Amino acid sequence: MTGKLIIISAPSGCGKSTIIHEIEERGNVEMKFSVSATNRAPRPGEQHGVNYYFLTTEEFHDKVVAGEFLEYEEVYPGRFYGTLRSEIDRRLECGDIIVLDIDVNGGLNVKKVYGDRALSIFIQPPTIESLRSRLEGRGTESPEVIDQRVSRAEYEISLAPKFDVTIVNDYLPQAVTEAEETIKAFIKR
Ligand code: ADP
Ligand code: 5GP
Repeated sequence: MTGKLIIISAPSGCGKSTIIHEIEERGNVEMKFSVSATNRAPRPGEQHGVNYYFLTTEEFHDKVVAGEFLEYEEVYPGRFYGTLRSEIDRRLECGDIIVLDIDVNGGLNVKKVYGDRALSIFIQPPTIESLRSRLEGRGTESPEVIDQRVSRAEYEISLAPKFDVTIVNDYLPQAVTEAEETIKAFIKR
């Protein structure tokens, strides 16, 4: 039996993590989360091996050289994020449904590799202003980093049409239901 991939991409702050968490809470779809590697520092409460594998820049580059990444991106200057092959291949063979929370370029690259075995979902904010206020409300980034993330968001939103499905995350419960139904239909296919 072979599994499938659910790729969820969006600019930072659009609600990817919240939507994935809500789908898990509802418990109607069994998905395994692909834990990415990054050289950014953990936020308060984030755990190594749960939210990310937190690596030094040197450790990250060693894994790049060793070919351990399916894909990786310098999402922000000096900040690397990557999907480890070990998170995907063996679990796909076991028939797992694997969910990836990755940036827009990474999402499109993974879709290219896995084709029909992957569903790519783009989460869109209602407006750029609402994205900024969500990032401010989350309170995990400095004003400079928020500016950087909002300006990158405009480029990322321009790539939305390349995804299989776009979901606007305005009213959260509705966005979660839409994502859940889309995923269920894809798994059944
Ligand atoms: P991402 O994982 O895409 O970076 P998060 O899931 O961390 O984004 O969401 C960013 C912030 O926006 C969080 O504080 C979250 O609680 C809030 N948020 C998410 N979805 C909504 C929504 N539909 N309406 C209002 N706030 C939201
Ligand atoms: P954050 O620092 O907010 O956790 O994540 C910043 C961005 O990096 C988000 O858009 C997130 O989806 C993306 N990201 C997380 N893991 C990966 C990954 O493995 N590969 C890529 N390409 N992007 C990732």
